[in-house]
Amino acid sequence: VVIVGAGFGGLQVMRALSGRDDVDVRVLDRNNYHGFWPLLYQVATAALTPDTVAYPLRQIMGRSCNITFQMTDVQCVDLVQRLVHTDTGTTPYDYLVLAAGSANNYFGNASIPKHTFSLKDVDQAVAIRQHLLDMLEQAAHEADAERRSVLLTFVIVGAGPTGVELAGAFADLLQPLLRKEYRALSPSEVRIMLVEAHETMLGSFPRALQETAARHLRRMGVMIRQNAKVTQVENGVVTFEGGKTMKAGTVVWTAGVKASAIAGTLGRQLAHAERIPVQRTLNLSDHPEVFVIGDMAYLEGYHAGKGGKPEAYPMVAEVAMQMGKCAAANILAQLNHRPSAPFRYRDLGSMSTIGRSDAVASIFGIQLSGFVAWLSWLAVHLVFLIGFRNRLAALAGWAWDYLTHNRGGRLIGGRRGETSAAAQDWM
Ligand SMILES: Cc1cc2nc3c(=O)[nH]c(=O)nc-3n(C[C@H](O)[C@H](O)[C@H](O)COP(=O)(O)OP(=O)(O)OC[C@H]3O[C@@H](n4cnc5c(N)ncnc54)[C@H](O)[C@@H]3O)c2cc1C
Repeated sequence: VVIVGAGFGGLQVMRALSGRDDVDVRVLDRNNYHGFWPLLYQVATAALTPDTVAYPLRQIMGRSCNITFQMTDVQCVDLVQRLVHTDTGTTPYDYLVLAAGSANNYFGNASIPKHTFSLKDVDQAVAIRQHLLDMLEQAAHEADAERRSVLLTFVIVGAGPTGVELAGAFADLLQPLLRKEYRALSPSEVRIMLVEAHETMLGSFPRALQETAARHLRRMGVMIRQNAKVTQVENGVVTFEGGKTMKAGTVVWTAGVKASAIAGTLGRQLAHAERIPVQRTLNLSDHPEVFVIGDMAYLEGYHAGKGGKPEAYPMVAEVAMQMGKCAAANILAQLNHRPSAPFRYRDLGSMSTIGRSDAVASIFGIQLSGFVAWLSWLAVHLVFLIGFRNRLAALAGWAWDYLTHNRGGRLIGGRRGETSAAAQDWM
């Protein structure tokens, strides 16, 4: 069994097949770690260090003698020859699990990725953190008020959970930091703007929680622009539909995702967000030995709220994990000539932090906000974070931050201009 991607979905397949002497498992991933993406925004805002949200894959595999790992970038899949082509060679398979997750969707605009930051892996989170801190350093010595205002303008495009969490975390980091350590700057000079193309932010949440989140963010000083579609970002200038522009020293793109580019190499019709349509048993009808799970899979049957038409299962960690378990069970069922089981989703709800000790959550239909929601968020993330050391490090980091308002990981590494093209816009 070859598993492409050891993220939330792939890891569950790996665990379910671990230790079996009737199955050889080969895991391919371009990183040597499993990334806990829901906490990436905390790395980007210096609340957690990168190693707290990433765990070495070889350590997760432990002593499992039927699992091997190869760090390699998968380029494409040949369904007919049953081969996975990577940048380091070719791997044959009997069964394949595609679990390579998603990439940013820039909706065909090639210049936006060159001029914005994104938050899809640890390197990108660190690049945001470095740039953010560098903006403060530059602003602290900038005599020109107009240029200082641009350096202190932070735009987040896309008000889904990632955008909302990042906007709140920016406010949490910047306001106290300016008051305590950048006395040449005034907190009132900082502008954090959350931009959303649609009418509502947190589109997948109940209306009441959307309004609560917006109210709390505004209270923290975050400006929210709804119905504002960004059409271009270039050299620090954000252009909106209709032609209005604004200057910003930092622009982070969290406005859309699509399936990993591997999906496009299968030579078949893709569904919304370039996801691969699968059967209810999570495999392809013409290639039952190929399973697709998590963000890469398109399967309808998800009921958001009561009534309404079933939608595609959302691109969230819980779906990927449950799909991983189902795919592993169906591989074993095929091996043992038993019928496959359809995917059944147990919806545990959704949650998003808004800032320090504040969150919104909809759990089993119960809507929570404020401190109680934040405590539930904290408990859920600690449970799912891999590794005792990481849990302890996260808990210690949060407790320290909660009590002291101090964040330790505020180093600017490397030399100026080395972080990313987007950073160079302002250096
Ligand atoms: C910043 C951020 C915050 C999020 N917050 C939440 C949240 O709070 N709650 C929630 O439920 N969901 C959240 N999500 C979404 C959630 O992380 C995804 O839905 C989930 O990770 C999907 O699981 P997956 O197994 O499909 O892919 P992933 O977990 O992304 O795993 C994909 C794996 O494939 C590897 N890979 C990718 N391409 C290749 C390649 N070409 N070759 C080799 N390996 C490859 C990657 O390195 C990775 O290890 C968030 C996502 C992001 C980016």
